[in-house]
Amino acid sequence: MRSSVGAGNSAGQAAIYLARSARSVTLLVRGDSLAKSMSDYLVKEIKATPAVRVRPQTEVAAARGDRRLTELVLRDRRTGSEETVPAAALFVMIGATSHADSLPGQIARDQHGFILTGRDLTGADHAATGQPVPLPLETSMPGVFAVGDVRAGSVKRVASAVGEGSVAIPQVHQHLLRQASSAAS
Ligand SMILES: Cc1cc2nc3c(=O)[nH]c(=O)nc-3n(C[C@H](O)[C@H](O)[C@H](O)COP(=O)(O)OP(=O)(O)OC[C@H]3O[C@@H](n4cnc5c(N)ncnc54)[C@H](O)[C@@H]3O)c2cc1C
Repeated sequence: MRSSVGAGNSAGQAAIYLARSARSVTLLVRGDSLAKSMSDYLVKEIKATPAVRVRPQTEVAAARGDRRLTELVLRDRRTGSEETVPAAALFVMIGATSHADSLPGQIARDQHGFILTGRDLTGADHAATGQPVPLPLETSMPGVFAVGDVRAGSVKRVASAVGEGSVAIPQVHQHLLRQASSAAS
């Protein structure tokens, strides 16, 4: 049995993908249904995939094994009761973290490491640096823009990442105009 933890689209896609090669895939979901956090087309696809079983109100209490995973202890969140089940693999699909650590410290990030832009930057940041108020996709470092998943508050979707990329271009032009006019004055 393979287990996938999570109830978002990534977990759903992973479960369906794994079901192509695994005899049985169990989706472990802390909430009471997938509908709250997963796209309807995926919920339907999961229902139509016999190898995928959904186990709601369940969390992983322990993962055991010697050289490799052999079993999971699953806790029922309603009753607190625990059950040990065999497990050949566990895929954790419970969210993404930002890998923006290599950027300079002057580029402000939120507590999860996602880059702050535009109005998410507090007034105090600008007052301290004396920099103009940033454009909507501009970071706390003037002239540096952030788009897509790495940007705090962005919708984590391909279309929105691409859209933000296109929206950033006129803002780059605006920034260059700002620079040119401040150099001229
Ligand atoms: C399993 C899964 C399923 C998904 N399914 C969907 C879906 O069905 N529909 C949908 O719309 N979205 C889906 N998404 C979300 C979608 O993939 C992202 O929202 C989208 O890819 C974001 O684009 P991006 O350009 O911001 O980031 P990414 O696509 O992550 O691109 C960032 C790029 O930057 C590179 N990079 C990182 N650090 C550095 C560095 N220091 N120097 C140079 N390059 C660097 C990375 O290697 C990567 O190529 C899914 C995501 C996952 C994980």
